[in-house]
Amino acid sequence: MKSLHVDSSARRSVVAFGSNLGDRIANIENALRLMREKGLRLLKLSSLYETKPMYYDDQDSFLNGVCQVETDLEPLQLLDVLQSIENDLGRRRVIDKGPRTIDLDIILYNNDCIKSPRLNVPHLSMLEREFVLRPLADILPNEHLPPDFSLASSYRSFGQLLNGLSERDSTMSPVTTLHPETPLIRAHDPTRNTHVMAILNLTPDSFSDGGVHKVEGVEAIKASVASFVAAGATIVDIGGQSTRPKADFLGPKEELARVLPIVRAIRETKEFDKVAISIDTFHSDVARETILAGADIVNDVSAGLLDERMLPTVAQLGKTIILMHMRGNPHTMSSLTQYPDGVVNGVARELSERVKAALSAGIPPWRIILDPGLGFAKDQDQNLELLRSLQHLRERTEYSSNLRNYPWLMGPSRKGFVGKITDVADAAKRSYGTAAAITASIAGGADIIRIHDVSEMVQVSKMADAIYRRP
Ligand code: ADP
Ligand code: MG
Repeated sequence: MKSLHVDSSARRSVVAFGSNLGDRIANIENALRLMREKGLRLLKLSSLYETKPMYYDDQDSFLNGVCQVETDLEPLQLLDVLQSIENDLGRRRVIDKGPRTIDLDIILYNNDCIKSPRLNVPHLSMLEREFVLRPLADILPNEHLPPDFSLASSYRSFGQLLNGLSERDSTMSPVTTLHPETPLIRAHDPTRNTHVMAILNLTPDSFSDGGVHKVEGVEAIKASVASFVAAGATIVDIGGQSTRPKADFLGPKEELARVLPIVRAIRETKEFDKVAISIDTFHSDVARETILAGADIVNDVSAGLLDERMLPTVAQLGKTIILMHMRGNPHTMSSLTQYPDGVVNGVARELSERVKAALSAGIPPWRIILDPGLGFAKDQDQNLELLRSLQHLRERTEYSSNLRNYPWLMGPSRKGFVGKITDVADAAKRSYGTAAAITASIAGGADIIRIHDVSEMVQVSKMADAIYRRP
């Protein structure tokens, strides 16, 4: 006879979280941290959705998500823990169903049905709440309600229950955070504006602006950043290591010496309070030190592949990562362009793997941005195909990591394939070709464009937004 081993103490529960007061992302991340500290083991985490308030309209939008946890606690003990976290985070019940810093509800507990004065599980109104069903369908699309709770509903999976909702909120979108003071990216919002990421290279050998900015000229660099911000950039991407094909590799020490003083100088400047600082690096040591100095985003061209400490470092420090698709390293990538089922499928599959790795390292879905890596392990036709097909890439759902909920960055600026097509050898003179590629990117649904010619490309992105970003 088969013996079935059941661990009698470990139970699985789904906890829903929501916040609409103060720094909503910080409230939710603090709640998740406290849940971990109190011994709940996080198994799965949904995207965060921004939703208009239900029930009581005169309040700000909510951020809502769900997580699956493993716990040894009994249901009422779990409720006690969650309520103590709500209290620690300063939740005040002023108005029923009104504004709250954090709300933690038990949605499911094993397959149990619990009816007590303090606790109803499954949560009674989960079937009418899209802001619960949608994130639930993210993490457990094929699971069901316990039949004792609602026989009729238990025939359908959470994914089917979501699709069967009679009224859907078309304004609900997964969000991504760049910086506490920068608007959230709402990847499913057809009216969103494209974010502009201005490139600040501190390298003597970058392919297009190498040597323009040097560490010594802090004041000159601050003036450049001021002009980027005035033009409309919301992100500055600081790089101390060129990743152009065949660039010489620096060690993390030398790279840090270039970028750290600049990160500090930007963060110490009050007028740059709202700008998000991104660090273009594949070294976890550079990521760690610059984050501690105030950087918000790590832009890793290898998506964590070149340094195994990268994903855990970004997870631990609680910042946002850009996962770019490439193969090999900047020395070998130009020969790694075989995509047997097409470049779009190849990029989707390989980036999905990196998303899975980032999630299992503990980076939450609202801190992941994707980049197909134009010019990295792609030939000219493949670069053009990616520019043409971003909309298809955005909608990929067949991989378990579901690319559909993440925003995309596109970085065609001044790259070699633009120079070849337009017959412009001097990288700094490739603005017109870049403008066409930026327009195509925005037509395909790019959320962020990464560019060199800031004031010019801000005009291009404003124009493309006006054409394509309509409800
Ligand atoms: P909301 O319904 O908006 O979550 P509250 O968080 O203020 O409102 O919850 C009010 C009460 O609901 C709590 O005191 C708690 O005892 C009770 N409750 C009943 N079922 C649950 C559940 N599944 N999860 C959390 N709280 C629950
Ligand atoms: Mg509650």
